[in-house]
Amino acid sequence: MPVTNAVSAARTILTRLHDVMASRSHAQAKLNTVVEVIGEGLDSEVCSVYLLREGMLELFATRGLAQEAVHVTRMAIGEGLVGTIAQDNETLNLAEATAHPDFSYRPETGEEKYHSFAGVPIVRRERAVGVLCVQHADPRRYEEIEIEALQTVAMVLSELISNAGLVDDEEVVLSPQQTGQVRLDGLTLVKGLAAGNAVYHQPRITIEHVMAEDRDAELQRVYLAFDKMREQIDRMASQAEFGVGGEHEEVLETYKMFAYDEGWSRRIIEAIDSGLTAEAAIERVQQRTRMRMRQIDDPLLADRMHDLEDLSNRLLRIVSGQIGTAASMGLRSDTILIARNLGPAELLEYDKRRLKGVVLEEGSLTAHVVIVARAMGVPVLGRVRGLRGTVREGDPLLLDADKGEVVVRPNEALIEAFDARFAKTKERAAAYAALRDVEPFTRDGTRITVLMNAGLRDDMPNLALAGADGVGLFRTEFQFLVSATLPARERQTRLYRDVLDAAGDKPVVFRTVDIGGDKVLPYLRHNDGEVEENPAMGWRALRVALERDGLLKVQARALLEAAAGRTLHVMFPMVAEPWEFDAAKALFEGQLAFLKRQKKVLPEAVRYGAMLEVPALAEMLDVLVPRLSFLSIGTNDLTQFLFAADRAHPKLAERYDWLSPAIMRFLKRVQQAVVGHDVDVTVCGEMGGRRLEALALLGIGIRRLSITPAGVGPIKELIRKVDLDEITQAMNQWLAAPPPSLREALAEWARDRGIEAD
Ligand code: PEP
Ligand code: MG
Repeated sequence: MPVTNAVSAARTILTRLHDVMASRSHAQAKLNTVVEVIGEGLDSEVCSVYLLREGMLELFATRGLAQEAVHVTRMAIGEGLVGTIAQDNETLNLAEATAHPDFSYRPETGEEKYHSFAGVPIVRRERAVGVLCVQHADPRRYEEIEIEALQTVAMVLSELISNAGLVDDEEVVLSPQQTGQVRLDGLTLVKGLAAGNAVYHQPRITIEHVMAEDRDAELQRVYLAFDKMREQIDRMASQAEFGVGGEHEEVLETYKMFAYDEGWSRRIIEAIDSGLTAEAAIERVQQRTRMRMRQIDDPLLADRMHDLEDLSNRLLRIVSGQIGTAASMGLRSDTILIARNLGPAELLEYDKRRLKGVVLEEGSLTAHVVIVARAMGVPVLGRVRGLRGTVREGDPLLLDADKGEVVVRPNEALIEAFDARFAKTKERAAAYAALRDVEPFTRDGTRITVLMNAGLRDDMPNLALAGADGVGLFRTEFQFLVSATLPARERQTRLYRDVLDAAGDKPVVFRTVDIGGDKVLPYLRHNDGEVEENPAMGWRALRVALERDGLLKVQARALLEAAAGRTLHVMFPMVAEPWEFDAAKALFEGQLAFLKRQKKVLPEAVRYGAMLEVPALAEMLDVLVPRLSFLSIGTNDLTQFLFAADRAHPKLAERYDWLSPAIMRFLKRVQQAVVGHDVDVTVCGEMGGRRLEALALLGIGIRRLSITPAGVGPIKELIRKVDLDEITQAMNQWLAAPPPSLREALAEWARDRGIEAD
């Protein structure tokens, strides 16, 4: 088979196949012609097509083998060379077929005179539906270009076969990893149980047409798609859409490298030259890379493979015009979303009523997407390895974020066991709901204030449902994140007014916009387009607000107007030095004076507070506290700075414990610095919503918690079982002489007193 040019060989074959496909003959007759065309085109003595029928690979057409064997020779999946190709979905290229351990001789075919053998899977929707193979009398290995021509032809063949209805689209070869029940472990990011069907955040593209009608038009489409994709990648890099450094930056670098890789685009163009559509060409090149990469056993390369796969899918989406995420296509009910990672804004696009859970390949506990999910009451499992290789679109899933696992395609027994647990959790939820109107007093009679965190109008009904004392942290930037453009003042005013109305006489603490870090607004280049090396410690929150004070002025006006006649609680994020608090307060006071001159109805009172998230501020509390009405400790940011551990970094997600003596000692010092002042101290980070952490906080003197709504019930229940003197004493001892694990010590303490605290 002296093929010197795979492209022209494939093109010649494809042109002829095009005619065959267009002809009006019967499917079997078409297939008979097809093997002749391919055999001739590749100058091969034998060319055979095996197709999947009733679970077996059946010889459907052949040139060169005995015709009596057609529809007689049948191989099981995994049996012989043909069965192995289908099972592994991989190419075989053998100089001496009989030397292969899987070779199985079929006398009826008369194949004994042929020595060399090359076969490729015929793939439909990522799965093998048949095998195309060529054989030669001379023992020789086929050239790579010959194999490529064969693979291209196999791709076209899959369309022909499917159009002719020769194989049932549902009848496919799948490995147990793709069909059976599989349990995948991950890291619990938001607790909870969910059952539903897998939906990919970025759906895979189905390629309808493989053979091109007009080569130039296809080339044009792919050139345009490349331009668009490169533009997107460049924009991503400049906006650091991927969030914070580390792994994400590496990904972005790899993306850029692939996006501009000449070799990749050239191979796609060659595939179009051979007669494929732009979509098929991209997929074809992707298949080839996949096959090559599979032979290399290197986890780093496997990661790169994912990147290229992502990029290839992005290119496919652009070229096919199927650009939306699953959110824009509308969800079915009971969806469990699958993604590599998500931004908070992307998650907020989903319909909360239908989204039951999220499973991510990456993710970390305090990333904002996780905070959003927690606020939405959606369980999230992160750091799940092998997720995208195992789960297929539509697969039934049982997500058990409590245990840190997801079961893919569960069997009946498991579904039953899961249902039983589900019922139990519902019972528990009902028990918490019963606590809704019960005030959280400790056993010794101290009233603890339990507030909730919120960020959207939709969160407000939770206030009554959970029975919280108010909103201790309203993250105003969420409105900015879900909006395509900067929200105008009127829109902001309306939201804040609605929120206050919904809260009735319960207080709401509005935090001024905290953008930057992993909360990136696509429409706001807050950093003059420069990529920040370390955005969490960069140009964010109050730092942006004080320099670009237009944004803060608009927000101040909106908040002051919305609170007309009521008390406004406003708090500033990321205060690092007392003057920053003063400057922000002065800006509000300026707006207040303006409204006064305009004779507008003013708030009855304005109470100003600061967030303690930057450790340096803890050293200045003697200066700052007298100027405050309240202080709120944002432990999510605070702990990332105390441990110098990026809160969104997947590799650090499990490294440090909130229940470390270092953090607890620090928080205790802060708490004590405020004693004697008429200033409320609240902990509003995620840790306050976890029982053991809440217990520890009570033990160091914290009496106000602002937590995720789902935590209100469980934390109230805990409070009612705690004796403050007892836990204070225990914490004092542990902090003076730390045990090997504070977490374990607390857990044991709770267990001994019959307090459920996991
Ligand atoms: C925090 O940092 O603890 C906090 C509550 O703010 P955010 O999580 O929005 O940064
Ligand atoms: Mg913060």
